[in-house]
Amino acid sequence: MKPNIKELTLKEFAAHLVERKEPSYRAKQIWQWLFQKRAASFAEMTNLSASLRARLAEDFTISRLVTLRQTVSKDGTKKFLFGLSDGHSIESVLIPELKRLTLCVSTQAGCGFGCAFCATAVLGLKRNLRASEILDQILDASRSLAGDQRITHVVLMGMGEPLANYAETVKALDVMTDTSWGIGISPRRITLSTVGLVPQIQRLMEETKVNLAISLHAPTDELRGQLMPVNRKYSLQQLMDCCRALPIPRRRRITFEYVLLRGVNDSMDDAIALCQLLRGIRCKVNVIPFNPHPGSPYQRPQDAEVEKFQRVLHAHGLQINIRRPRGDDIQAACGQLQGEEVQHRQRQTSLAAAQ
Ligand code: SAH
Repeated sequence: MKPNIKELTLKEFAAHLVERKEPSYRAKQIWQWLFQKRAASFAEMTNLSASLRARLAEDFTISRLVTLRQTVSKDGTKKFLFGLSDGHSIESVLIPELKRLTLCVSTQAGCGFGCAFCATAVLGLKRNLRASEILDQILDASRSLAGDQRITHVVLMGMGEPLANYAETVKALDVMTDTSWGIGISPRRITLSTVGLVPQIQRLMEETKVNLAISLHAPTDELRGQLMPVNRKYSLQQLMDCCRALPIPRRRRITFEYVLLRGVNDSMDDAIALCQLLRGIRCKVNVIPFNPHPGSPYQRPQDAEVEKFQRVLHAHGLQINIRRPRGDDIQAACGQLQGEEVQHRQRQTSLAAAQ
């Protein structure tokens, strides 16, 4: 099996070229073909000699994801089901807003964190994605765009926990953000969302400049522990201490995500406790009304309840966003990404039961 060229770092590839008696500056040109011009073959790389192109094709492959399905929502949101080379599948969601085009990418096939309300959790962890598989979601989703359209923002909020796949995620971020040979999206336009892995959050903030979002979802250890098993490893106290100490640049804020589950974490007491918990942290809160999915026991609160919750936060001076569900008619909203496998399995089980 020939290696996938996108699995190498630029430095590793430059060293390979030198071994092959080629000038190392060619590496950058080839990286531009791969990540800026989205070349799918070496033959397209017309500023290289024919012999070099042929040699590269002998030595390497250029990966692509298989688009198993594309679904478009009535609000313009587009969901991709991508197949990986070993048969697992992942989902990415393209979200058009006024001047933005945001791609929500996955970092793992499935997820092992078991948050009680999340559809991806049902799958369990299949495996970590390689850096190239994270990047290919951007490249392959871009291929579906018309002429001058470009992905302007990336959120690492799809399937999986990015900080549990730290090395490959950061490797992908390096290529995503580099403007000279990479995809060239500014780190200010990239947001990574995590369940709250304290040591990895600290490391990420030292090593990259991307925005940080933390899935909070409850103001007390008792409730958060029920909804998010990770809270038994890193308590709210540890998480908040970590947030207070982070080197967040001026004018930037940590985002806290709070999924509102009817009758579970949406009371006025919860809202007040949340304000107290976040006191003194430069942050904003994304209030996300729960997006239902098949088999989940949770419900979305009424709009009036959502507004009441929001008013308490507002009165305490917190900056808030209410996330309108996007793409919920095609199961593409937050927490609805499941890939194909569960549905397959359910179909097979119901078939077996019917026989
Ligand atoms: N593992 C990371 C990345 C996933 S991001 C994390 O947990 O942050 C997806 C976001 O959607 C998280 O905030 C997650 O808690 C939230 N979410 C999960 N299921 C949801 C649902 N059914 N409705 C609304 N939001 C949900």
